[in-house]
Amino acid sequence: MTSGAQAKRRLTILGSTGSIGTNTLDVIRQLGGRGAFEIAALTGNGNVALLAEQAKAAGAELAVTADEGQYENLKAALAGTGIEVAAGRSGLIEAAQRDASCVMAAIVGTAGLAPTLAAARRGADIALANKECLVSAGDLFVAAVHAGGGKLLPVDSEHNAIYQVLEEHQRHAVERIILTASGGPFRQSTLTEMRDVTAATARAHPNWSMGLKISIDSASMFNKALEMIEAKHLFGMRPDQIEVIVHPQSVIHSMVGYSDGSVLAQLGCPDMRTAIGYALSHPARPALDVERLDFAKLSRLDFEAPDEERFPALRLARLAMQRGGMQSAVLNGAKEVALEAFIDGRVGFLQMAEITETVMEAMTAIPAASSMDDVFAVDGEARRIAKTIVERDAAAA
Ligand code: NAD
Ligand code: MG
Repeated sequence: MTSGAQAKRRLTILGSTGSIGTNTLDVIRQLGGRGAFEIAALTGNGNVALLAEQAKAAGAELAVTADEGQYENLKAALAGTGIEVAAGRSGLIEAAQRDASCVMAAIVGTAGLAPTLAAARRGADIALANKECLVSAGDLFVAAVHAGGGKLLPVDSEHNAIYQVLEEHQRHAVERIILTASGGPFRQSTLTEMRDVTAATARAHPNWSMGLKISIDSASMFNKALEMIEAKHLFGMRPDQIEVIVHPQSVIHSMVGYSDGSVLAQLGCPDMRTAIGYALSHPARPALDVERLDFAKLSRLDFEAPDEERFPALRLARLAMQRGGMQSAVLNGAKEVALEAFIDGRVGFLQMAEITETVMEAMTAIPAASSMDDVFAVDGEARRIAKTIVERDAAAA
C-alpha cells in the first residue's frame, strides 16, 4: 500500500445476479468500484452470462454457479480471464470461505443458509439480505456470527431502518419495534378477488422493485411474517414487542418506540441501495446517488392495521414464535414449497397460507435445533409434507 492510499475492502456477494446482488454492485460502483473494493467471489445460479459479465467487470477472483449443469458454460464464458470458476453447493461454500472481510448474503431462500453460515463461522461481517437464515436457523445463525466475531448488518429495508434508529445504549428503554408493510398489490382486494390472482399480478409490487419470490411474498404478506421472525432474532425482541402497520407509501421503512413515548423512524425513497450502502459502509454514511424524498410532493403518509383474515401469514408468524422450537423453520420450508407451486400455477394464492398452516399443525412440537443438521432435517420434512398437500390439491383441482 502506498502512503495515503486507502486499503481496499474485500467483499464477496452471494447471489450477485439477483435484485439485491445487482443493486450491491451498483452501490460498489458508486463507492469507488475497483479503486475501493476487491471482489473475492461472486455467485449466481442459472444466469451464467450475467454472472460472467459481472465477474469480469468487477475483477472478481472467483465466480460460482450454484447450478452444476452450468459449470462448463461459465468456464467457457470466463476462459482466458484468469477468473477461477466453481459450481454447486461446494462451490458456494468455497465462495463463502474465501478471505473477504464482508459477505453480502443475497441468495434467495433456504439455499442461502449453508454458505451464509460458512461465512459467519469464519468471522466475516455479514450484510444480511437472506432473511431465511434467521427464520429457519435464527438462534444457531446468531450464535455462529458471535462465535466467528463478525458483525451482522441487516440489509432488509425494515431491519436496516431499525438498526439505524435503535439506540444501542438505550436498549433497556426500547418498548416495541414497528415494522411497516406496503400491503402489496392486494391491500384493498377482497378474499374472493384474491382467490383467483396469478403470479403475474401478485409479483407487481406497488413500490419496491425486487426478485420474483419476495415480491409474491410481499403480496401475501408472508414477507412481513418472515420479517417479524427476522426482527425477533436481530434485535432480541419478544413476539409481543413486534408490531406491523400497513403504510402504503413505503416511505417510513420502520420505527422503534421508546419508554418515553418517542418513536424514531427512518425514512427515504423506496430504494434498496440506501440500505445496502448503509450495511456496507457502517458506521459511516456513504454518499449515494439515490432519489431524495420530496415532502411537498409526498403530501401525506397513510397507515392502517393489517387485516389478518385476508393476510393470515402474520398470524402464522406469531404462532410460530409463540410455539418456539423449530416452528419458524417449518413455516419457512412449507411456505417455500407452496410459493413455488403458486408460481408454477399448481395452487391458488390463498392456498399458500393454508398449506403452510396445515404443515405447521402437522409438526407442532419440535424442539429447538442443536445443529444445522436438525434445521435441514426439519426443513426437509416440512417440504415433504407440503409437497404431498400440493400434489393432492393439484390432483383434486
Ligand atoms: P433474486 O431472485 O432476485 O436473486 C436471488 C439470487 O440467488 C440470484 O443471484 C440467484 O442466482 C441466486 N439463487 C437462486 N436460487 C439459488 C440456489 N438454489 N442456490 C444458489 N443461489 C441461488 O432475489 P432477491 O430479491 O435479490 O432476494 C435475495 C434475498 O434478499 C432474499 O432472501 C430476499 O428475501 C432478500 N431481500 C430482498 C429484497 C429486494 O429488494 N430484492 C429486499 C429485502 C430482502
Ligand atoms: Mg423488507
